[in-house]
Amino acid sequence: MALITKAIKGTKDVLPSEVYKNQYIEATCLSAAENCGYKEIRTPVFEHTELFQRGVGDTTDVVQKEMYTFDDKGGRSITLRPEGTAGAARSFLENGLNNETLPQKVCYLTSCYRYEKPQAGRLREFHQFGIECFGASEPIADAEMISLAKQIFDELGVKDLHLEINSIGCPECRANYHKALKEYFSEKEDELCSNCRERLERNPMRLLDCKVPSCKEIAKDAPVVLDYLCDDCREHFEKVKKYLDAMNIEYQVNPKIVRGLDYYTKTVFEYVSDAIGAQGTVCGGGRYDGLIEELGGAKTPSLGFGMGLERLQIVMEAQECEFPEPKKPDLFIAAMGEKAQLKAVEIAKDMRDEGFSAVYDVNARSLRAQMKYADKLGAAFNVVIGDGELEEGKAKLKNMKTGESSDIDLTTFVSGFYSISMDEQLKDLEINGEAFDFNSLFGISQN
Ligand code: ATP
Ligand code: MG
Repeated sequence: MALITKAIKGTKDVLPSEVYKNQYIEATCLSAAENCGYKEIRTPVFEHTELFQRGVGDTTDVVQKEMYTFDDKGGRSITLRPEGTAGAARSFLENGLNNETLPQKVCYLTSCYRYEKPQAGRLREFHQFGIECFGASEPIADAEMISLAKQIFDELGVKDLHLEINSIGCPECRANYHKALKEYFSEKEDELCSNCRERLERNPMRLLDCKVPSCKEIAKDAPVVLDYLCDDCREHFEKVKKYLDAMNIEYQVNPKIVRGLDYYTKTVFEYVSDAIGAQGTVCGGGRYDGLIEELGGAKTPSLGFGMGLERLQIVMEAQECEFPEPKKPDLFIAAMGEKAQLKAVEIAKDMRDEGFSAVYDVNARSLRAQMKYADKLGAAFNVVIGDGELEEGKAKLKNMKTGESSDIDLTTFVSGFYSISMDEQLKDLEINGEAFDFNSLFGISQN
């Protein structure tokens, strides 16, 4: 087979046989966020480039090296979103959500684009689950955000992620810290990468986040921000820790965490896994009290996190976390002949109207081939309809798991299916002595 082209480097297809894992992770994220009062927001995949230059910060790696930026046909500079916060913040302001009751709590599932070297856990198109809480200044909000991420990991059965937290202060206490950093790094200026030499003037904290090995080495002994916090920031950090303690959330204070965005303030945090190699940060976030102002709004203390969904899934697979079985059809209808096909279409519609999944062969193959197909699909029940069944108005409904068959009336098929599948459940109940599962009874095909 000679394909005319292949998928772009650093992108990944999710195949139908695998997508249930993504769906499960995504649904778990959304429902956990919803339980904390977050509502989904959807923003465009591309934005004006200046949004990210301002909203992520033009001294960051993301803006300096990683963005997919291009001119559109009208000559405007457009960028594919490298992260979710800037777009959500723009939307918050542009749509006047800042005038509604605060906080505004939003969450999203989005694709993100970064021109990075593809490797395990690092893609050029990846996906994030993110939350943003606009208009909340108290430490209880920081702790709630951190606990929501943990809630998601717990529900997914992910173990052994360690939580690292830090405070990077506010612009006031940071002025002193910047001075100390400048002094420290200036002495070693010749050994820094060209980006870092430039950052030294504009945003020396960025040097702590540089991935160039020689810069990393120098950064090891740099002054730590916690020694420079003002009283307000120190107290804020102490309270965040107190709330985490109260929720029994374990953490380590890691003064080296500064996070990728320019406008982070006070609390920053990461959940890191040791199970998946170098790209171990599954979730990162923090407070960004300066961002909304930076984008042209009034001062609005805010915070949020981004969770890398591919990395999360890699961790889950490495830890052999369970994914619920993908849904299979409730019924396969094998139809022999044109008349039977008409009946199959009719029954399938009635079944689907009642919320069951029903599948038939759209290729009208031989009975043998249809049964093989039914087996592949893993349908719970099947029924064969041919001339004989049509004439009699009756068919055999076969339970594919037990092999048992029951008579079913073709004119009242759905109610017959209902009671037969209910009987099966009751039998299961007797056999297993387990609690009767009413949900699965009334919505075999619902999740
Ligand atoms: P890293 O240090 O790994 O480059 P980052 O600080 O650039 O991460 P963030 O901007 O904080 O990452 O994004 C939040 C999360 O998104 C990360 O913790 C990670 O799980 C995920 N992520 C970031 N970049 C990629 C990528 N290129 N491919 C896959 N996932 C990514
Ligand atoms: Mg990065």
